[in-house]
Amino acid sequence: MHDPDLATTSTAHPWHALDTEAVLAALATDAEGLTGVDAQARLTRHGPNRLAEAPLVPAWRRLVAQFNNTLLMVLMGAAAVTAWMGHTVDTVAILAVVVLNAVIGFVQEGKAEKALAAIRHLLAPHAVVLRDGRPHDLEAAHLVPGDVVLLASGDSLPADVRLIQARNLRVDESALTGESVPVDKSCAAVDRAAALGDRVGMAYAGTLVTQGQARAVVVATGGQTEMGRIGKLLQTVEGGATPLLRKMEAFGRTLTLTIIVVAAGLFAYATLLRQMPAAEVFMAAVGLAVAAIPEGLPAILTITLAIGVQRMAARHAVIRRLPAVETLGSVTVICSDKTGTLTRNEMTVQAVVCDGLSVAVSGAGYAPEGTLTATGPAGSAAPALRALLQAAALCNDASLRDDAGQWRLTGDPTEGALLTLAMKGGVIPVTAQIECPRVEVIPFESAHRYMATLHHDAQGAQVWLKGAPERVLAMCQHQMAPDGTLVPLTPGVWQAAIEAQARAGRRVLALAGKRLPAHTMDLDHAQVAQCMTLLGLVGIIDPPREEAMAAVARCRRAGIRVTMITGDHAVTASAIAAQLGMGQADELQALTGPEIEALDDAALCEVVHRTRVFARASPEHKLRLVRALQANGEIVAMTGDGVNDAPALKQADVGVAMGLKGTEAAKQAGAIVLGDDNFASIAHAVEEGRTVYDNLRKTITFLLPINGGESLSLLVAIALGWSLPIAPAQVLWVNMVSSLALAMVLAFEPTEADVMRRPPRPVGEPMLSGFVVWRVLFVSVLFLLGIFGLHDWALAQGLGDEAARTVAVNTLVCMEVFYLFSVRYLKAGSFTLQGVKGTPLVLVAVTAVVVLQLFFTYTPFMHALFGSAALPLQALPAIVAAGVAVFVVLELEKWVLRRHSAP
Ligand code: ADP
Ligand code: MG
Repeated sequence: MHDPDLATTSTAHPWHALDTEAVLAALATDAEGLTGVDAQARLTRHGPNRLAEAPLVPAWRRLVAQFNNTLLMVLMGAAAVTAWMGHTVDTVAILAVVVLNAVIGFVQEGKAEKALAAIRHLLAPHAVVLRDGRPHDLEAAHLVPGDVVLLASGDSLPADVRLIQARNLRVDESALTGESVPVDKSCAAVDRAAALGDRVGMAYAGTLVTQGQARAVVVATGGQTEMGRIGKLLQTVEGGATPLLRKMEAFGRTLTLTIIVVAAGLFAYATLLRQMPAAEVFMAAVGLAVAAIPEGLPAILTITLAIGVQRMAARHAVIRRLPAVETLGSVTVICSDKTGTLTRNEMTVQAVVCDGLSVAVSGAGYAPEGTLTATGPAGSAAPALRALLQAAALCNDASLRDDAGQWRLTGDPTEGALLTLAMKGGVIPVTAQIECPRVEVIPFESAHRYMATLHHDAQGAQVWLKGAPERVLAMCQHQMAPDGTLVPLTPGVWQAAIEAQARAGRRVLALAGKRLPAHTMDLDHAQVAQCMTLLGLVGIIDPPREEAMAAVARCRRAGIRVTMITGDHAVTASAIAAQLGMGQADELQALTGPEIEALDDAALCEVVHRTRVFARASPEHKLRLVRALQANGEIVAMTGDGVNDAPALKQADVGVAMGLKGTEAAKQAGAIVLGDDNFASIAHAVEEGRTVYDNLRKTITFLLPINGGESLSLLVAIALGWSLPIAPAQVLWVNMVSSLALAMVLAFEPTEADVMRRPPRPVGEPMLSGFVVWRVLFVSVLFLLGIFGLHDWALAQGLGDEAARTVAVNTLVCMEVFYLFSVRYLKAGSFTLQGVKGTPLVLVAVTAVVVLQLFFTYTPFMHALFGSAALPLQALPAIVAAGVAVFVVLELEKWVLRRHSAP
C-alpha cells in the first residue's frame, strides 16, 4: 500500500492511469469514505483544502501606493516650492495634508477590503462528503485526500478527484483548460501519458459539473491540486471600481488639470498684467489649487460603497460584483423564482386524487399527524391509493427525522411532503425501502421534470415515477382502477382534475409505476417513456411568504415590476401570483415555456411587457426573457439556482443567485448571492442600492461647493487685487479636517423615507445631473458671499487682518454645518424635527467640528501654525447668522423647486 502522505500530486501519482480499486487502496480508503477520526488526522497532516491566498501586500507598500496620485503629486510639488521660498509654515501644512490624505485613503481602503473579506467567508464553497458512511454537507476546506464526495449537476469540484462511480457526468473544465465544451467523464483509467483534458476518470478542483451525478475520491487538496499547482486563484468576490467611481476618478483628473491650468493662467495674469510680486502670487495660486481640489472625495465615495455592501450583507444580500451596488438602484424589473423565494417552500399534501377516489389530507407541516379521508367505493384501502403511497415513499430522496417532536427534513421539500403523506397513510418509508431496495435512479432535473427509481422486490423489478402531471400523463397508457386492475387511461378526466388542483394554487404531482422484467438492473429515460400506469395525483400547498407579499407591494410602489418565473404549472403559478398581489387578473395570465418557444424575439419583446408570470419555464427560457426585457430598455434583476441558470444570471444587469438551494455554478455567475433565498432580501438590496446612490450624491453635492466657494473667493480676490480672505494653509485645514469630518456622516445616512416610493433612477443618469450642478454652483456663490461678507464686516469692525481671516474660516465652516443639515434631504424640506435633530452621528460630527474650530481659533499653537487669531465674543453671533442664512435660502430654493416640479 502507498503511503497517503506521499501520494499527493498528480505528477508524483498518475491517478488517472490507475483503476478505481487501486486508487482507493493507495489512499487507504474505500467507496464509503473515511471515518471522522481518520479525516481529522489527515486534516492535520495535509492542512486545509484551500488555495494559498494572494500574498498580502505589506502595509507600507500600500501606504506608499497612496502617494501615487495626481493630486498628492501636485501638492508635494507645491510643498517643495514653498519650502524653497522659505514659507515653512505652509510647507508643513501642505505636507501634513498630504500625509493625512494618504493615511485616510489607506485606512478606507483597508476597511473596504475587510468588508469584502468578510463576505468572501460567506461564499465559502461546500461539498457533500461521506464520513462514517453518511453524507455530510461540509465546507470544502475540510476535505482531505481519501474523502469520498458526492457530486451533482451544478457543483463546483472542491478538490482534485478520481471518479469511482459516474452517471451521465459532464464537467466544464474551461477554468483549467480553456476548453468551453463540457467533457464527458467516466470511471475509466487512461494512459499514463494522457493530457489533462483526456483524463476522463479525473475531475479537477475549480471545474463545474454541468450534468449528471458521481461519487469520487479526493486525491489532492489545496495547493496540491492542478489549480493550486498552476497558482491560479479561485475568485470569489470581484472588487474593482464601479462605473461611478471610475467616472469620479476621471472627473478628479480633469478637474486637477483644469485647476493647474487656471492657477498658471492666474499667476501669469497677476505677475505680467498687474505686476504683483511673484512670490505672493505663487502662494495664492497654490492656495487656489489646494482650495479647488476635492481632496477627501475619493476616500469618502469608497467608504460609502463599502458601507452599502455591509448593510446589504446584513440583510442577506451578499455582493459579489461591486458595480451591482449601483445598478441595483436602477432596476426596473425583478424576475423571481417562485418556490422558496416567493413561497415558503414548506410543502404539505392536501389532496390525493386516484381513479374514482378523492382523498382529503388533514394536518400541516412535515409531522405525520393527520388523516386521509377518502370518498369513493373502496375508501382508503383502495389498491390504487396504497400503490400511490408506496410510490411516494420509494421514489424519493428526502428523509424525515423526529427531532424531539420537531420533524426535520433533509432534502427536497416536495419530496418531504410526499414522505409525510405516506406516513399519514400508514406506509413507513424506511420499512418500504428495506423491503424494496432501490437499484437505480433517474434523478429529478428541472429540464425533464420527473424522477424515477428502480426497485427489486419479492415479485421482481418495479419502477416508480413521479413528476409534472402533463409529463407523466404522456408516459402512461393505463390507470389503476379502485379495485387494483389496470384500465385504459382517460386523459380528459385527469386534465380536469389537474386544473381543479392547480386553480386552488396547489402544486400538482402525478405518480406512476410499472413492472419490469425481473433482474432489470438499468434504468434510462426510454424505459419509462411509455406504457406506465398512472396511480394518481397529489395536490401540494406551498403558501406564499408573508414578507414576500409585503415586498412585492413595496417594489410595485417603487416602480419596479415583479415577475415570477417558475417550473411549476401555469394555473398554480397564476394562483400564487394573485395571492401575492403581483398584478391585475389579466396580467397574471401565465405564459408557458412552450408558448415562449413559439414566439420569435420581436413577439417576445412585445409579450414580456404585459406578462407577470412565466410557467413551465426551463432555465434556457430565462436567458431569452432577460434579453427580451433588456431589448425593451428594462434593467433586469434575475434570480437563478441551477447550473443552466448561469447564462441568464450573467446576462441580467443584476444576477441574483440563491445561497441556500443554489449551485456553485449559479453563485459564481451571480452578482449577488442571497443568504436566505427570500424575495424580500432582493427588495431590501434594491432599497440599499438606492440609498447608497443617494448618499454618494449627497456627499458629492456637499463637498463640491466647499471647494467651489473657496476657489471662487481666491479667484475673485486675486483678480481684483484684494487680500486673500482665507490663507492657503487655512483652506487645507477646512478641506481636510472640518469638511471631511462632516462629509463622513453622509456615508452613514439612513435610507430616506420615500426611497421605495419613487421610480427607478434612469440608467446613465449622470451623477453631476443638472440639479446637482445647479446646487453646487448656487451654494458655491452663497459661500463666496458669506466668506467675503463676513471678512469685510470683520475688517470694518476694526479686527486685524488675521482675525478677519479667522472670521472667514469660521464662517465657512459654520455655513458647511448648516449646509450639511440641508443636504441630508436633497429636495425635501429639512425643517422637520428629524431633519434638525439628525442621527446621533451627525451631532457627534458637528460637536467634533465645533471643538476643532475652537481649538483653531483660540490656541496659540494653531495661531502659529495657521495664522489664525482669537476672536472677540461679539463675532460669534454674526458667524452663526451667516450659517442660518445659508440654511434658510436653501430651504426657500427647495420650496421653489418643489412647487415648480409639482404637476
Ligand atoms: P419551481 O420553479 O416551482 O421551483 P421546479 O423546476 O422545481 O419548479 O419543478 C417543476 C415541476 O417539476 C414541478 O411543478 C413538479 O411538477 C415537478 N417536480 C418538482 N420537484 C420534483 C421532484 N423532486 N420529483 C419529481 N417531480 C418534481
Ligand atoms: Mg424548484
